[in-house]
Amino acid sequence: MTISATPQVLAGKVALVTGASRGIGRSIALAFGRAGAFVVVHCHAAREAAQAVVQEIESAGGAGAVVAADLSLPGAAQVVFHACDEILQHRFGQTGVDILVNNAGIIKRDTIEQVTEADFDHTLQVNLKAPFFLIQEAIKRMREGGRIINVSSMGTRVAFPAMAAYAPAKAGLEALTTLLAAQLGARGITVNAILPGLTSTDMNPLDPDAGMGAKALPTIALGRLGHPDDMAGTAVFLASDAAAWVTAQRIEVSGGQRL
Ligand code: NAD
Repeated sequence: MTISATPQVLAGKVALVTGASRGIGRSIALAFGRAGAFVVVHCHAAREAAQAVVQEIESAGGAGAVVAADLSLPGAAQVVFHACDEILQHRFGQTGVDILVNNAGIIKRDTIEQVTEADFDHTLQVNLKAPFFLIQEAIKRMREGGRIINVSSMGTRVAFPAMAAYAPAKAGLEALTTLLAAQLGARGITVNAILPGLTSTDMNPLDPDAGMGAKALPTIALGRLGHPDDMAGTAVFLASDAAAWVTAQRIEVSGGQRL
């Protein structure tokens, strides 16, 4: 669908999507661009892939820019917003943002017996600490009516022993979602979480005909694995005016997993 055929529900909005060079983040960034937002596409090191996302947004008539930062490093949030400020100041003469999507994440599939202290720290750093400080920076710049969308996981609802470090990190992100929804409501800012189900991406390469993908299929009401685009529609809705009175929600986008 080209930008002219997509309802411009995010026209005039500035969005930052982390981990948007691929997978779910890429789908969300592209959908935001089609909906009229200026999209800051954050990547870790894959600048070329992130630039390709911006080009795809531009070829559909939208606009965006790339920022790169390793979210496992101390001070990453300041690095991201320093770059973001420069881009927005140059383009709009101000540094206001409307939408933050904390999408970047990592998983190392280990049980509690297997998790090393270094892996635990890394998992919490990327999945919880980085979003925490990105939100801290974002709310300094966020306009009235802003949106914070945290990408969590069905791993907080369903017990997967091999998510021993990952699931608690995502659960922390969901606790933060509720707390901040209460605090930021006075500014008209909503804070919600999307809980993706089993979605085939680099993080989770799933084959519906083999292995874990095939095993999981009978547990999904809609009978298929997720595609990154399945998350994008919910993200656009949460970011739009249509969701102005939706806050503190944890929305499962899982095809109805383990009902
Ligand atoms: P993905 O691996 O394709 O995307 C993860 C993104 O995070 C990538 O862009 C990656 O570069 C970025 N990232 C990782 N470490 C980083 C670092 N140190 N600094 C900066 N960026 C970093 O996987 P995905 O499936 O698209 O994951 C997106 C989000 O969805 C994650 O938060 C993940 O936990 C969540 N999720 C995915 C699934 C699934 O089945 N794929 C299920 C539940 C939740």
